[in-house]
Amino acid sequence: MTFMNGKTMLDHAFANGYGIGAFSAHNAETVQAIIEAAEEEQAPIMIQVGQKVIQTIGMEPMKMLIDWYGRHAAVPICIHLDHSREFTQTMRAVQLGFQSVMFDGSALSFEENTALTKKTADIAASLNIGSEGEIGKIGGTEDEITVDEKDAMITTTEEAKAFVEATNVDYLAASLGTAHGIYKETPNLRFERLADIVREIRRPVVLHGGSDVPDAQVQRAISLGVAKINVDTELRQAFTRGVQEIFEENKDEIVLAHSLGRGKTVMKEKVKEKIRIFHSNRKAAGLLQEEKEKEVLS
Ligand SMILES: [Zn+2]
Repeated sequence: MTFMNGKTMLDHAFANGYGIGAFSAHNAETVQAIIEAAEEEQAPIMIQVGQKVIQTIGMEPMKMLIDWYGRHAAVPICIHLDHSREFTQTMRAVQLGFQSVMFDGSALSFEENTALTKKTADIAASLNIGSEGEIGKIGGTEDEITVDEKDAMITTTEEAKAFVEATNVDYLAASLGTAHGIYKETPNLRFERLADIVREIRRPVVLHGGSDVPDAQVQRAISLGVAKINVDTELRQAFTRGVQEIFEENKDEIVLAHSLGRGKTVMKEKVKEKIRIFHSNRKAAGLLQEEKEKEVLS
């Protein structure tokens, strides 16, 4: 079994104190880079299909691409829909057989976010699919926000608790001091708030904007209950660096297998590095074994 329910995967990571890398894919080479890295590190992973790639390549072609390259993988893979702001799009991913979906209603009122996330969580649970919801606002680093505004964006323990109780979503994206993109200054994660939230909701927390957060901070967050770390920007940087290397060597290079191939090689190393930082290396076998034992018992 290659493809695995996101809840099963994250519950294992949460219970065993490691983090699952949720790596964004953008084309065939990035899918290959992520899967090969996971296999070499024997790590369970999530591959994220995000809004940008849905606009350009499309959700279904990306799903088919990951299905194809992942079908014989020796490690558990979970295909996840990232930051869907449209309920219909979330349901489309469910229909296509994603193993995990996010409905992001963080821009809506608490009531609207709760209602749509609950619907998503109910449907996903009945189909053995993991669900992610978001409460609190996770900004982009391009947003010009003041320190006061930053503080106001941090998810409160009360809203996290109320949201999870009302929706029963499997894992929660909370705003804990990270942002999407590359940071202008080093982020400082709110560990105390994270610990309070986990104590109340007793389920995995998702860290968005995982690129460029100092390793020690990410590891401490994992020790407190973060079980999914989204990484996109740093992977795109690595891929781009690889492609640039080729053009520095030969500015007239037109064999795409060379330029994109080098991008893949450099990105794969970055994925492996992240897997080791999250301590999910060599966790695939234990997770698969546990699943097998559950099947025998049921
Ligand atoms: Zn995000």
